[in-house]
Amino acid sequence: MNAQSAAKLNQVNPALANIIRQLAERVATQYGGSIQVVSGYRSYASQAALYANRANNPNPVAVPGTSKHEQGLAVDLRISGVSASTVGALGESMGLRWGGRFSKPDPGHFELLARASQDTGSSTWEGGDDADISSLATIFILGLVAVVVIKII
Ligand SMILES: [Zn+2]
Repeated sequence: MNAQSAAKLNQVNPALANIIRQLAERVATQYGGSIQVVSGYRSYASQAALYANRANNPNPVAVPGTSKHEQGLAVDLRISGVSASTVGALGESMGLRWGGRFSKPDPGHFELLARASQDTGSSTWEGGDDADISSLATIFILGLVAVVVIKII
């Protein structure tokens, strides 16, 4: 991978970066192809800018606030010398979710599954949004119960 790819991998979840480095190695040794990271982490602002210009983008663009790129859990790859479906299958065998299977296919997109991101043991990376939403809901419900109990008492 080139220097730009290496720099972009330094900005995403370390578990994702490790898998992409291994993927690059295997694509080269097993298929003689290459992959480059063309997009990794995106701020909300950069996702919003991309979304605003989505009509000019050949790939699907997620609504700002919903992209795995904003969590450092996704990369977009430029794939050369080997088919995207071959790299997709390889990535899936290594624990990634491949965008080629999305309802709007995005064959260069690879993301870390929430469970794999939690295996890093780091508290910085929390995986999917669902866990956050359900824990917020629990806090909200506990708050309501507390208010009701206080009123009864
Ligand atoms: Zn992507």
